[in-house]
Amino acid sequence: MRKGCALVTGASRGIGAATALALAADGWPVGVNYRSDAEGAERVTAAIEAAGGRAVALQADVRDPGAADALFPVLEERFGPVLVLVNNAGVRADALAPQLDDDDWQSVIDTNLSAAFRLTRRALRRMVRERFGRIVNVASVVGPRANPGQANYAASKAGLIGFTRTVAAEVARRGVTVNAVAPGFVETEMTQGLLERVVAEIPARRAGTPAEVAACVRFLASEEAAYVTGATLTVDGGLSA
Ligand code: NAP
Repeated sequence: MRKGCALVTGASRGIGAATALALAADGWPVGVNYRSDAEGAERVTAAIEAAGGRAVALQADVRDPGAADALFPVLEERFGPVLVLVNNAGVRADALAPQLDDDDWQSVIDTNLSAAFRLTRRALRRMVRERFGRIVNVASVVGPRANPGQANYAASKAGLIGFTRTVAAEVARRGVTVNAVAPGFVETEMTQGLLERVVAEIPARRAGTPAEVAACVRFLASEEAAYVTGATLTVDGGLSA
């Protein structure tokens, strides 16, 4: 096992929490980042520790340009270099484009896209030196695909996929991989109240679970996935097939 750790942003619940648990099960000490849900993050770290793993809950709003400086030194001191970064923190603020206000545009872009850029930039410094790194960006099927009412969200996720591809090409020869997962509809707080309406359109006729997305992230973060980079792994029950 390599000496280092994983950082999962937005890991107090949903896909991020399931991902933190999955990476811990693979032996990574995990930084469980959250913005406001301290209790949720503590539940996740407690579950990891109960299963014999190591974890620390770390408060930081990833929209803050100083978030990387708040997160990385703590983890480096406690567990060693961050060798796995999962940019998962995400929000939506839906409205049709003519009604979308500047704040709802900016907060979605800042959380879903700009934060991933800043944390990736910080993580790469060390990953490149270590000649090993795994970055996984949690995108969405909304991005490559239209979803009226989500122009801000779609722009952020399409941007994240483009960012993933280009950074992957930049660092591939350093042993660092950069990939995305693109979930369809997954049962979390983010999709509360939405799922009943969309399930009939999903070929699998059900929403996905956070654990099903986490299993894909876990694979992309593994040693075995060394030759997979610049890819976007769709996890959507056939929605975009
Ligand atoms: P969720 O249940 O709403 O969880 C979102 C997580 O992000 C929470 O832990 C939240 O923490 C954190 N977060 C939000 N803003 C943050 C910020 N500024 N700084 C730090 N943490 C922040 O959502 P989810 O469904 O698990 O979504 C996780 C990711 O999957 C998102 O990127 C989302 O776009 C993507 N996704 C989800 C679906 C789906 O169907 N659910 C589909 C496609 C893609 P606090 O509560 O502490 O703020």
